[in-house]
Amino acid sequence: MKPPLIDQVHQIYKEIESSLRTSPDLAGKCNCCGKCCDFKSFDHLLYVTPPEIEYLAHHIGAENIKPMSDGICPYNEKGKCTVYDYRFSGCRIFCCQGDKEFQSQLTESTLTRLKYLCENLAMPYKYMELSTALSGSRPCTQNTERSTSRRRRLSIRQSAGGYGPAGRID
Ligand code: SF4
Ligand code: SF4
Repeated sequence: MKPPLIDQVHQIYKEIESSLRTSPDLAGKCNCCGKCCDFKSFDHLLYVTPPEIEYLAHHIGAENIKPMSDGICPYNEKGKCTVYDYRFSGCRIFCCQGDKEFQSQLTESTLTRLKYLCENLAMPYKYMELSTALSGSRPCTQNTERSTSRRRRLSIRQSAGGYGPAGRID
């Protein structure tokens, strides 16, 4: 039987997909080029939460959680996402062609749910840049936020944080 956390993250992801389907013009059309999975060259960051890492680990095996060493998501291979079905909320919500305010609101509501999930399961809530999360260390801090401020400004509110790219195995 799947742990409640896995079911609940699955439900959150399903609802994100439903919101995106309901508002295709605001969601934007992604051509799955995978460019935004190269955070360094795309000049943005992806923030994730512990339940999302747990969800990925549950599906691909904890031994396959890889560190990020070069500013590119380790699950992006030749421009394609190798964990597409289990990708993070930010990866689902972000689209370079999408409406930024729509993405911001959807991100905020998603993070609220992930935080609530953590509280219910007595799991520490952290808001971490992907490379930090994959290395299993510290949460996002004010200093981290400031250190990213020179990067391309994301229209999402600072409290709700990062974006995630998309990519797909065809
Ligand atoms: S879509 Fe997300 S999980 Fe997949 S390769 Fe890109 S950044 Fe990584
Ligand atoms: S959202 Fe990312 S993967 Fe999709 S078209 Fe834009 S840069 Fe490419």
